[in-house]
Amino acid sequence: MSNNIKVVCRFRPQNSLEIREGGVPILDIDDEGTHLRLKGEGDNTFAFDKVFGMNTPQKDVFDYSIKTIVDDVTAGYNGTVFAYGQTGSGKTFTMMGADIDDEKTRGIIPRIIGQIFDSIMAAPSNLEFTVKVSYMEIYMEKVRDLLNPNMDNLPIHEDKTHGVYVKGLLEVYVSSSEDVYEVMRNGSGNRVVASTNMNAESSRSHSIVVVTITQKNMDTGAAKSGKLYLVDLAGSEKVGKTGASGQTLEEAKKINKSLTALGMVINSLTDGKSSHVPYRDSKLTRILQESLGGNSRTTLIINCSPSSYNEAETLSTLRFGMRAKSIKNKAKVNADLSPAELKALLKKVKTETITFRAYIAALEVEVNQWRAGNIVPEDKWVTMEKVTRGDFNNASASSIPPSALPPASGFRSPIQDDLSRPATPAIVLEKDEREEFLKRENELMDQITEKESELSHHEKLLDSLKEEMNYYKEQEISVTQENQLMTSELSNLRLQLQKISYESKENSITVDSLKEANQELIAELEELKKSLIEMRNAQKEVVHSDKEKKKAEKMAQIMSGFDVPSEINEKERQIRDALVKLELDGNGLTAEELVSLRKDLTDSRVLVDQHTKTIDDLTEEKGTIQKKKSDLESRCATLEQEYEELLDKTIAEEEAQVQKNEDIAETITTLKSKLEMQYASKKESQQREIEELRSELEKKTIEHSKLSTAMNDLKSANDQLQIALSEQSFREPTDISEKEKELERMRKTMAQQLADFEMMKKALMRDLQGRCEKVVELEMSLDETREQYNNVLRASNNKAQQKKMAFLERNLEQLTNVQKQLVEQNSSLKKEVAIAERKLIARNERIQSLEALLGDAQEKLIHQNQKFEAQLQAVRDRLEQARTQKANQPGLSSINFGRIAKPLRGGGNVVNVEPNTEGDKLKRTSWMPGFMNSSRQ
Ligand code: ADP
Repeated sequence: MSNNIKVVCRFRPQNSLEIREGGVPILDIDDEGTHLRLKGEGDNTFAFDKVFGMNTPQKDVFDYSIKTIVDDVTAGYNGTVFAYGQTGSGKTFTMMGADIDDEKTRGIIPRIIGQIFDSIMAAPSNLEFTVKVSYMEIYMEKVRDLLNPNMDNLPIHEDKTHGVYVKGLLEVYVSSSEDVYEVMRNGSGNRVVASTNMNAESSRSHSIVVVTITQKNMDTGAAKSGKLYLVDLAGSEKVGKTGASGQTLEEAKKINKSLTALGMVINSLTDGKSSHVPYRDSKLTRILQESLGGNSRTTLIINCSPSSYNEAETLSTLRFGMRAKSIKNKAKVNADLSPAELKALLKKVKTETITFRAYIAALEVEVNQWRAGNIVPEDKWVTMEKVTRGDFNNASASSIPPSALPPASGFRSPIQDDLSRPATPAIVLEKDEREEFLKRENELMDQITEKESELSHHEKLLDSLKEEMNYYKEQEISVTQENQLMTSELSNLRLQLQKISYESKENSITVDSLKEANQELIAELEELKKSLIEMRNAQKEVVHSDKEKKKAEKMAQIMSGFDVPSEINEKERQIRDALVKLELDGNGLTAEELVSLRKDLTDSRVLVDQHTKTIDDLTEEKGTIQKKKSDLESRCATLEQEYEELLDKTIAEEEAQVQKNEDIAETITTLKSKLEMQYASKKESQQREIEELRSELEKKTIEHSKLSTAMNDLKSANDQLQIALSEQSFREPTDISEKEKELERMRKTMAQQLADFEMMKKALMRDLQGRCEKVVELEMSLDETREQYNNVLRASNNKAQQKKMAFLERNLEQLTNVQKQLVEQNSSLKKEVAIAERKLIARNERIQSLEALLGDAQEKLIHQNQKFEAQLQAVRDRLEQARTQKANQPGLSSINFGRIAKPLRGGGNVVNVEPNTEGDKLKRTSWMPGFMNSSRQ
């Protein structure tokens, strides 16, 4: 059997990425399935033990390349199966398969396990087997037990009996494929948990399944044990200097360290020059020390992509495989020899020792001759052959101390060979020294792992603290930011508040000043009104007194024109005189005279009647005139009232309707026109009335004159009558007494009539006087009205007045505008003040709510802090607890089975074992104390 590493190459089909990127298969495999050509940018040919094409079934890969290894392991050899290749090239697919339970797609590991149990079943019944499984992962140069994930940094030890092993690694006894699958699932689950925590860790970590099969011949007592390493290596692609997923350079270096070391180990094993193989450079190479250039049957599966898209990576993978192909291993059975075998071996060794001693002695002799300057002929040169033939038996071999003996092969001591352990260390050491060295190394390794775990613990603590710190920093930053924001907001609000309060103050001040101005204006207005009223009153008084004067004057004038009383008085006097005369000379009248007198008297009576009638008419007329007068008066009063109302209205309009100032001119003109019209109509009517009155006066005067003429006539008639009466008295003295009596009667009636007339006259005079008075009054009011009209006309026409008016109007306008503005400002300011106040209230509320929020947030923060602290403390406590538990119960794991060896007999018999628990239903036929401890401490 060749001891070279067996290298098989497997290509997977192109994946979707490669197809999408336009990759094409560039693989060409020869008919024998041992050579392949990559027809990409270059044309490279490679030869391997076997090349599997893109669609090779899992079973074929297993049957053609792996199956034999299982037999070797069950026969006591160590075996190793590596899967190497870039991430995604199919390593896991090859090793574990797509589905562990699916016969078609399950990978090499499940098949190997099945095969192992099949072999055990097929073995003779005197052989007893125990199978142990362990599952570990190397990530970042730390060995983690996947079956006991708490153990995440296990030290690697080496000793005489066990060789290189991972200390503390949980080994689970299994008795069937299902047990193993369960273990695998468990381990993979732990790996998945870890890989979700660390980005793409699974492609950066090496996973190693170790199956240890121990077989004991129950007849001879000889025992053999074989270890099978099933290794799914990390992705061979180059990790960028900064790492593919943002790792630091240090991490990237660490991730690659094991793979680089593997390359270096393979290089130094194959270049033929290196005397030192750097197994200790990495955990992976150290663990797999026996699989590489040591005591193991090793198969390397090179997983590649067939696509032109991944040509470079495929080439590098294939080159790695080619180099590995030339590694030579020396696989030996790990056997505990039976006494007979040991005896034979001792005998063989003894003879070999004697031969070696003879050889050494002969060589020493020859060397001494050379040293002495003599020449030893070539045919006398000492060789091993001559020694074994016994040509140099004369040499005193026994005198050579055993320590001076050269090692039998390479750097290995015979003892090492006996124990079938690899060349560790590389320097030549005494057996004791070597043991000492290994012991020391193990101690140091322990210390290192301890320190490393301490370190990692501290790192974790540091990380958590950093995280905590970052969290707090973030919190602080956010809180500070919030604070700043709030502070700025608060200061803004404060500023705004101040501004608003200031503005409101200002506004209130302005309002106050405006109120004051308003008050002043109102007072002024009041004053103006008062003065206006005063002026009006004064004017009225003046006008009134003027009126009185004028009235008196006019009355005097008019009354001076009437001399009627004097005339009447004259006539009266004359009539009286006549009467007196008549009384005195009553006897001198003749009958004729008397008759004529009587006639005249009747005439006079008629005349008087006429006059009485006329007076009646006049009285009637007077009544109508009086009525008219009262009408006129009322009209005048209404007109005056209207005028006053208009005036008031105008003033009020001027005062109130400031906005109508622009129409003031218009208003004035309309007013003017109105006034004009009113005055015109008034004037007209008054003039008409005056005319009427005048005509009436004239009529009256005429009537008066008529009356006076009639009076004159009457007078003359009276005179005549008197004369006649006097004549009569002379002529008819006989009838004197009668006549006298009659005369007396007449005289009396006449006197009566005269008195009546006088009364009437007086009444008439009174009436006339009253009427004249009225006329005068009316004339005066007309004059007054005229004057007023003229005044108005003057006022509106006078330029200076107009100017003044315009100036005043302007002033008024300005004032009105100012007042308007002020009023507007006032109202807007009031509004603003109200708004500002509302805003202020709102802001206050906001501030309060913000403060409350802040308080809440702070409280929450404190609460969270406390919670966090409590959690942290709890975690610490738990950690501490776990540590102490671990210290007390090392190797405890979630896996409940597999702590006890489950020996299996060849041919499928289960070995009897005393059940250690009541619930243990497994029937075991024997007990193997040697494999009791599932993990070495
Ligand atoms: P690696 O372990 O090297 O990172 P995987 O084994 O996870 O790669 O394979 C990557 C993908 O390619 C998986 O989806 C797997 O099913 C698929 N694959 C790998 N090899 C084959 C094959 N020979 N036939 C079919 N699919 C494969």
